[in-house]
Amino acid sequence: MRNISINEEITFDYAMRNYSIDYFPPKCVCGSEFCRERVTGWKDLPETKKEEYKGFVAPYLYDLDAEIV
Ligand SMILES: [Zn+2]
Repeated sequence: MRNISINEEITFDYAMRNYSIDYFPPKCVCGSEFCRERVTGWKDLPETKKEEYKGFVAPYLYDLDAEIV
């Protein structure tokens, strides 16, 4: 998460808005130095990554986590 320049492409981890992702190519090709290698949903993120994304993800993801625990 950082400021971007005018005309710079916005990229984000789909797990920041999708609880699960069922249909996606198995290997991510985003090219980010922070790439997780696979496109997966919020439910598949390790707690350390969830903490890193805190405040930048869709609020409903926290609601689902609370329901499941
Ligand atoms: Zn990637």
